[in-house]
Amino acid sequence: MAKPNITLVQGDITEQDVDAVVNAANSSLLGGGGVDGAIHRRGGPDILAECRRLRASRYGGGLPVGHAVATTAGKLPARWVVHTVGPVWEPGEDRSALLASCHRESLRAARELGARTIAFPAVSTGVFRWPVEDAARIAVGAVLEEGEGFTEVRFVLFDQRAYDAFAAALPSGH
Ligand code: ADP
Repeated sequence: MAKPNITLVQGDITEQDVDAVVNAANSSLLGGGGVDGAIHRRGGPDILAECRRLRASRYGGGLPVGHAVATTAGKLPARWVVHTVGPVWEPGEDRSALLASCHRESLRAARELGARTIAFPAVSTGVFRWPVEDAARIAVGAVLEEGEGFTEVRFVLFDQRAYDAFAAALPSGH
């Protein structure tokens, strides 16, 4: 199968007309700030209701870092939200495998549902403080490895600096 078409846009993850949008969640699955807050605000209460059911069934101890699980997208233009928990940046500790795992597991969860298009924010680069140039390299690498079958994998970057970091991380030809 062909490699995915990776695209970049500067904008808001909640406005993306893709099959699945990825949420930079925290392991409680009960919402937070940043991307998480925006998704729940715009998507409405059905997303949180499904997150609560997941906590009551499969994820009583929380969604582990590097894992991903899908719910409805509520009122968002997308069909599904894939919640993933990025690692917190810790200087002197290499947690990059966990950040790559977030991207791989999100792609797997979306693919299982039949998604062909997916949008990612810059996971871990906000409250979790991961340097965006490094996060971009890891995210793009994971998508090139695991993104087969998707017609588009879109990175949605909130600001110019993040956009430039992802643009620099794309392989030539993109
Ligand atoms: P994390 O806790 O994984 O660091 P955050 O939500 O704090 O997640 O931030 C992740 C990235 O998403 C940051 O670069 C932040 O600027 C960006 N961001 C915040 N809100 C939005 C949004 N509505 N759409 C897209 N990106 C966003």
